[in-house]
Amino acid sequence: MKYRFSVSDVILAHKCPTHFYLKKIGVNAYFSFPKNRNIGTFVHKVLSHFANSVKTETLFTENQKESFIEYKLYESFKAVSFTTKYRVDYAKAWKYIESTGAYFKMLCGDKSEEYVREMLLLSEEPFKISIENAIIRGKFDLLMKTDNNIRIIDYKTRSENIEIDAIQIALYKFAVEELYGIKVKPVVVYIEEGGIKEEEFTNAEFKEILKQTKSIVREMKLYMSGEKIPPKSMDREVCTHCNLAYNCKKIREEVFNE
Ligand code: SF4
Repeated sequence: MKYRFSVSDVILAHKCPTHFYLKKIGVNAYFSFPKNRNIGTFVHKVLSHFANSVKTETLFTENQKESFIEYKLYESFKAVSFTTKYRVDYAKAWKYIESTGAYFKMLCGDKSEEYVREMLLLSEEPFKISIENAIIRGKFDLLMKTDNNIRIIDYKTRSENIEIDAIQIALYKFAVEELYGIKVKPVVVYIEEGGIKEEEFTNAEFKEILKQTKSIVREMKLYMSGEKIPPKSMDREVCTHCNLAYNCKKIREEVFNE
């Protein structure tokens, strides 16, 4: 049987195999990370809107050319704000967008708008890859061509766990190289109010992370086939964000006859 998972499933199984399995069989399982949650979603939408509008619209006037990245980001910010139904701290969100604008300017230098358009290769592009004979699907935030590299950029408004971010970016890198046959530089971009922090991985690190990711996928298949009981999370901190924290033991007894 060919199993189908998402990148989020792999991350979930790494955080807690029990949580992953229970969610897969229909238990209402979720993690709550209240801090910045809405801002993160909002910022993602604005940046995706920005990348698409830069790629598809050629509306820059002479006045806008000097600062078209800021101009486009502001337009995207307004457009997404109009359609957003949840509460967002817009002043704070704008600070994140400003930081991202400065980052894009740093990457783009004084290149022309046409060149910048060429630099933004893919935004929010869905993909499907086969790992350990399982289908994994996901979506890149942004694929961007800079001077000597193609970067897979994944935006984060909070650094939850570098190990988890590394698994995600390793899957993206594997996908880009498998699907498009191009070598890429995997970069996690942490957007903070005061600026941007980049985390890059060396090839050796990437190989190690990919090996670990493949082993997680193999385990996921064993849980789903019933050949192995998914263990609990090894990280107590993870449990403090889990909605099943108070009845995890009871649910495990019922589901796994423990
Ligand atoms: S309470 Fe902890 S061990 Fe249980 S499902 Fe949640 S994260 Fe996993």
